[in-house]
Amino acid sequence: MSTVRKFTAAFPGKYIQGEHAITALPGIIQLLGKKGLIIASPTVKSKILPVSRLEDSDVSFSTEVFKGECCETELKRIQETVVNRQTDIIIGMGGGKTIDTAKIVADRAGLPVIIVPTIASTDAPCSGCAVIYSEEGEFESVYYTKMNPQVVLVDTYIIANAPVRFLVAGMGDALATWFEARSCAQTQSFNECGGLSTMTGLNLARLCYDTLLKYGSEARHSCEQNIVSPALEHITEANILLSGIGFESSGLATAHSVHNGLSALEETHAYYHGEKVAFGILTGLHLTSAASEEIETVYSFCETIGLPTTFSDIGIKEANHKMLMKVAVKTCAPTEGIHHEIVQVTTAKVIEAMIAADELGRTRKKERGRK
Ligand SMILES: [Zn+2]
Repeated sequence: MSTVRKFTAAFPGKYIQGEHAITALPGIIQLLGKKGLIIASPTVKSKILPVSRLEDSDVSFSTEVFKGECCETELKRIQETVVNRQTDIIIGMGGGKTIDTAKIVADRAGLPVIIVPTIASTDAPCSGCAVIYSEEGEFESVYYTKMNPQVVLVDTYIIANAPVRFLVAGMGDALATWFEARSCAQTQSFNECGGLSTMTGLNLARLCYDTLLKYGSEARHSCEQNIVSPALEHITEANILLSGIGFESSGLATAHSVHNGLSALEETHAYYHGEKVAFGILTGLHLTSAASEEIETVYSFCETIGLPTTFSDIGIKEANHKMLMKVAVKTCAPTEGIHHEIVQVTTAKVIEAMIAADELGRTRKKERGRK
């Protein structure tokens, strides 16, 4: 049997980013449909939707308040709304779960979707993947849409005025992109759109990493002062567009598997996706015996912008073997991207790498405290 070597990459149809870019929303809706359904949280509905000037336009639309979980019950409820209101275009406005819900609802109904992320905390907006949870918020499955969103519209004024922790978590998610892409390229592992990485995917993943190192710290300062600086624009693009294309078109590895493993511990639930991913990156560096200069660069980046480098930074105050084994077992599940690494992965090695990551993080904190 012959197997075809396929190189694949996936992109959003159009990506628009800028200060007050949300005012372009009425025109985009009119371009793609006649009757829009906006899915938004109560806060986004009251605070952000009015800025889009949709109310003052002649666009026909209605709003559905998202109930907070991307689960089958909620998906079904909104799917019914889509039919009842004869919607022909979906707009997902808000954070990760609202966005994922909009993507799935649109995909099932065969309608175009516009994604308007109001925070830059993950690389979900541009991708064709979405995560379905149970009603209680436990991970159930990854849903792959037939096509990526038609339009991703990012207003950097909104991003600059959101809490800084979101932007920093987004940098954690984006920081994983290059390391995971590199691992997949080394072992010729499949990406998230069912093929091998293209040069495009791999180089965009690298550009994502370089952009973070160059502008990350300045972007954090800008966000603290609610200023849309060039650095904040660059980091928004890295967190949302570069990381989005990078992970989907070049693949996942240790960082996200460790994130999934960590989610088995109740203690970590208050921490964002990108924060747990950041600890996963550090674990990956130890697991694969990365060069010491690279370890130095990544730890110091995390410390500078405020990403976790120790267990206690992600809520694990006292790590014992039983807890770590629970994490490691989930991290090493057969479907996990950690098996895309060049080294043979075992639960024992994952535990060792996590302990090493935490130890170095703590030592560095102590040293910095002395200075
Ligand atoms: Zn991620």
